[in-house]
Amino acid sequence: MTVPHLTLNLPAWVDICLAEFPGPITAPEERMRLVLELARQNIAYGGGPFAAAVFTHPEGVLLAPGVNMVVAGGSSVLHAVIVALMLAQKAAGCYDLGAGGQPVRELVASCEPCAMCVGALSRSGVRRLVCGARGEDTQATGFDMGDKPGDWVAKLERRGITVVPDQLRPAAIALLRGYRAAGRAMDTDQGG
Ligand SMILES: [Zn+2]
Repeated sequence: MTVPHLTLNLPAWVDICLAEFPGPITAPEERMRLVLELARQNIAYGGGPFAAAVFTHPEGVLLAPGVNMVVAGGSSVLHAVIVALMLAQKAAGCYDLGAGGQPVRELVASCEPCAMCVGALSRSGVRRLVCGARGEDTQATGFDMGDKPGDWVAKLERRGITVVPDQLRPAAIALLRGYRAAGRAMDTDQGG
């Protein structure tokens, strides 16, 4: 057999979107605005309504963005959080974003992470997680968040990851509802 190769390239429009948010982005709400704009554009270009990005905290230097690429990339693991973490670790040159000598890394996500992304986050080295929509908001749109432990916030915090909920939550919910209202096929029912 021929062993397949794998590359991970964000859509070309992401660079154009990032140019509208020159960094560093010191205001936490502005970081979420960037992430929600990435999610909005991902919807417009045929992807799922999810985006994420890794910043340094509190400086707000963008390390890597991510958007949901499950359908585009043909892979169930390409949730926005996973894509952002993979690209951030590539940019940092290290699988552990919390390794000694590195700045504090924050992951900003348009919605709470699904079961898979909670697991990935716990091993990534990020020290802060900022979420827009809640899991219940995402599930109300018809997405499956997986078998996530009810005490996932406490579990992450025990691993040294501070969880900040509800950042621009109404705007994040509006994106999810807009996606559903537009009658977009739930080509993947996996949230994230
Ligand atoms: Zn996920």
